[in-house]
Amino acid sequence: MLEATGLMVFYENMLALNNVSIMCEDNQIVGVFGANSAGKSTLMYTLSGIMEDIKKKEDMAGGERITVLGQITYLGQDIMGFKPSLRARQGIVLCPERRRIFPESTVLENLRIGGYLASPSQKKESLEYVFRIFPALEKIKKRVGGFLSGGEQQMLAIGRALMAQPKLLLLDEPLLGLSPLIQVVLVRAIREIRAERGISIIVTEQYARPVLPAVDYAFILENGASVLEGTREELLNNPDVRSAYFGV
Ligand code: ATP
Repeated sequence: MLEATGLMVFYENMLALNNVSIMCEDNQIVGVFGANSAGKSTLMYTLSGIMEDIKKKEDMAGGERITVLGQITYLGQDIMGFKPSLRARQGIVLCPERRRIFPESTVLENLRIGGYLASPSQKKESLEYVFRIFPALEKIKKRVGGFLSGGEQQMLAIGRALMAQPKLLLLDEPLLGLSPLIQVVLVRAIREIRAERGISIIVTEQYARPVLPAVDYAFILENGASVLEGTREELLNNPDVRSAYFGV
C-alpha cells in the first residue's frame, strides 16, 4: 500500500530522518517506536505531506530551510511532492500528535469538518460508524472540544480522521499522556478500525507495550534512523528489544 525508501529530512543542517525506509501493506497495522525526538512526527509529516506545507511556510517567511529527500510510493504511484490535500483525497489521513481538535467547535462540528471531502451519504455513514466505535462521543456530541478530557479529545481526533474516509490512517502518538484504561479503549478501536473497515494503519508511540499486541510489524527509530524492524513476534522474542523498548 505504502512504501517509503531512503527518506532524509533536514531542518537546516540538522538531520531529523536519516535514510528511513518503511513499508505498510494492505490491511496492516504497522508500529513505529522511538524515544522523544527520534523523528516520529517528522516521519508522519513527511508521509502525509504536511511537511510540504511546513517547508513552504518556512520558505515564504524566510525561516529555516527544510530539505526532504527519498521516495514515497502509495498505491503504485510516486506521491513525493504531492500536496497534503491531494494525499488526503487519495486516502492518506493524518491524526496528528497532541490531538489538535478545534476547541471552540462541538464534537459534531469537529467530526463534520473531518468529513468535508465526503458526500452527504458517506458523511452520514461515517458518522454512524464513529459513534459506534466510540459510543462515548455520541453522548457528548454537543459539547465543545475544549471541554473534553484528553481521552475524549483523542477519540474525537481519530473520529475526525475517520470522517475523511482514510485508506491509510496515520496515528501520531495517540496514547500520549492518557490513562491505561483509555489506552485499552483506543487500542481496541485501532484493531476494530482495521478489522471492520480494512483501513491500514501506521501508529507511532514512544512506549511500544500498550500498542504492540495490535501491530503486525514494527520499526524502531533511533536518532532519526530506523535501527530495527520485524514482526511483532520477532521484536518480542529479541531480548535486547524486550528490555529496551517494551519494558518486559
Ligand atoms: P516527540 O516524541 O518529542 O514528538 P518525535 O520522535 O516525534 O519526538 P520529531 O518531532 O520528529 O521527533 O523530531 C525529530 C528531531 O527534529 C528532534 O531533534 C527535533 O528537535 C527536531 N525538529 C523537529 N521539528 C523541527 C523544526 N521545525 N526545526 C528544527 N528541528 C526540528
